[in-house]
Amino acid sequence: MAFGEYILYKSQDTYSMNSCDTIEMFYNIRTDLDKLKYAMHITKIIQDVTNENENSYKILQLFLNTLYMISETDKDMDFILSIFKIKLLTFLGFKPRLEECTNCKEKENITHFSIKDNGVKCNNCATQDKGAISITPSTWIALKYITSAPSKKLFNFNLKDESLRELKLLSTVYFNEKLEKEYKIEELW
Ligand SMILES: [Zn+2]
Repeated sequence: MAFGEYILYKSQDTYSMNSCDTIEMFYNIRTDLDKLKYAMHITKIIQDVTNENENSYKILQLFLNTLYMISETDKDMDFILSIFKIKLLTFLGFKPRLEECTNCKEKENITHFSIKDNGVKCNNCATQDKGAISITPSTWIALKYITSAPSKKLFNFNLKDESLRELKLLSTVYFNEKLEKEYKIEELW
């Protein structure tokens, strides 16, 4: 799990490596099993959503910034993972609709996030949406921040208790639903 620059030489069907330079080692991931577990989990997700010979520069930037946060900071790793998932979904074309209620266009009284309608809902409309997840105003603000902030500033905020729980829950459910796969963090042993 290191970031490097590789010079490849193409001959017919195969590539040979001419040289490689390591740019970032993410050293602490090697010394902490919890950090390793989360880093492996996001690496698996990245492998699933990218293809060889496709330009994935934005996703690479997000991947590197997320690995950096896991390696070099003490931030809650589920918080880092939730932000990573929501940002990745926006890059993959699943940006949630967050400016107004997805049903009636109301801009006030936003109280839920609807998985099936890909965005927020007001208190009235949420009563008709059984799968909608309840959100506090700070979770709503956090979602708007994550989907619009540049990758470098993506993790520059904190959330407390209830909002943190909501963000973790909705990012997990929304991510699995959109990618049609049950992503779980696996134990290493
Ligand atoms: Zn509504």
